[in-house]
Amino acid sequence: MLNLVLFGPPGAGKGTQSENLINKYNLTHISTGDLFRKHIGEKTALGKTAQKFMDEGNLVPDEIVIGMVDDKIHSTSNTNGFIFDGFPRTIAQAKALDALMAKNNTQINTMLALKVSEEELMKRLLNRGKTSGRIDDQNEEKIRNRINVYNNETTPVANYYASQQKLNSVKGVGSIEEIFESLSKIVDTHL
Ligand code: AMP
Repeated sequence: MLNLVLFGPPGAGKGTQSENLINKYNLTHISTGDLFRKHIGEKTALGKTAQKFMDEGNLVPDEIVIGMVDDKIHSTSNTNGFIFDGFPRTIAQAKALDALMAKNNTQINTMLALKVSEEELMKRLLNRGKTSGRIDDQNEEKIRNRINVYNNETTPVANYYASQQKLNSVKGVGSIEEIFESLSKIVDTHL
């Protein structure tokens, strides 16, 4: 199996590059943000709980996220591997993911971390807010909070993977194709 973590701040291009990676390497996408938005759309209890945190740009509590990812892994059969997008976002989630992978006799092969400046992120997210309908993209204060949450709570996750020699940083600015090529080069070394 090939299991990738696609890492980076909100607006780094994780969704776009996930799509490319899924198509090229035939992987199953696990985007915790997308899964939460699906729950919200279906008005499930989990969705109602998550929405309170998401609308403010705060993290949904670890137990809820980890349980949801566990369910998604278990309900997937016959896959080449997973691409985790927007997960893990805390050290507790990273440790839980290692345990989930081990339970399934597999592991995370590598982390791909997209690097984009805060100024560029703000520009991209405000722009996305005009069309995405996402409440958390539509005001500068909420976006600022998400970037702060990323800096304070999520960046330590990169160190966690660095300590396992699994961190690969890639410049997330340039054309979609250029960035995808840089990512593919790294992934190809794990095939
Ligand atoms: P995203 O689509 O990845 O930008 O996620 C949108 C929102 O969903 C985040 O701002 C969080 O409120 C929530 N969320 C998504 N993934 C996670 C996660 N791994 N841990 C905690 N909260 C998450």
